[in-house]
Amino acid sequence: MEVGLIDVDGHRYPNLPLMKLSAWHKKQGDNVEWYIPTKHGFPLPPMGKVYMSKVFSFTPDYPYYVNAKEVIKGGSGYAIKTVDGEEIFEKGKDGQLTHEIEHIYPDYSLYPEQTKDTAFGFLTRGCPRGCKFCHVGCKEGKKSRKVANISEFWKGQKNIVLCDPNLIACPDWKDLLWQLIDSKAKVDINQGIDIRIMTEEKAELIKKIRVKAIHFAWDRYEDREIILPKLKYFKEITGWGREKMIVFVLTNYDTTHEQDLERIYTLRDLGYNPYVMIYDKEHTKSTDKVRLLQRWVNNRRIFATVERFEEYSRKKG
Ligand code: SF4
Repeated sequence: MEVGLIDVDGHRYPNLPLMKLSAWHKKQGDNVEWYIPTKHGFPLPPMGKVYMSKVFSFTPDYPYYVNAKEVIKGGSGYAIKTVDGEEIFEKGKDGQLTHEIEHIYPDYSLYPEQTKDTAFGFLTRGCPRGCKFCHVGCKEGKKSRKVANISEFWKGQKNIVLCDPNLIACPDWKDLLWQLIDSKAKVDINQGIDIRIMTEEKAELIKKIRVKAIHFAWDRYEDREIILPKLKYFKEITGWGREKMIVFVLTNYDTTHEQDLERIYTLRDLGYNPYVMIYDKEHTKSTDKVRLLQRWVNNRRIFATVERFEEYSRKKG
């Protein structure tokens, strides 16, 4: 069978479900390729199946006709709908993979540049927090559970990119952290590690991993008293510098501009790199204050040289 793939979000970041679908179909002897309707200048004959995957709700859908006997759409981008101004996650539309496909070794050849010597995957799914601005709980369940060992998606690559939503909330955190330590790979923990449940024991183990980057989050202003002491001792235990310790700062949700600035300055003073996330960014204007704030903080060079937001704002007129 001829199988086509469409990464609706574009090809900047490897799409794990598509890499797994590709691996599975190739195993069945199918011919898998990116769906390019006018490949070699000729219209493609109809394909047996085309998978369209979309992670982000704000990405516009693929605008062209898809010439295939069967078209299967999946991903959070298709499952999130806005009803009465509120985002709803429609379970079933996220295109859950079968157990066999979910646990197959991904076909990294689809994204040769981004996956060069780099493995991508999840060790856990789910999160007990249920933050209203996040779909993880609704999509994956309100419990962090182990879903894989690293050998499922890693075969000795030098780098691992881990996409787990809340790794250290999983009861198997110790086993999973040891797997990462033993891999000796450089690990980018690219979603948030929940600093609110950090312990000295967890920090000591994380320190043993060859961490390239670790991300935390200070989303709720009121978590200040829980988060700050933990960030302090995490830094003391690991001795790491700000270049690999990033803290997401959610804005445009339920905080004031003053609270946003306070979180940014506090994190910088603590030796972390804040990284501004904008809730519902697609409905903000490029001239909005929060967008200016994001440009200032997330551009490391500017943030290191322009100390205060007011100064940056003045320069930008
Ligand atoms: S802690 Fe993070 S992953 Fe969990 S629900 Fe909140 S934002 Fe989502």
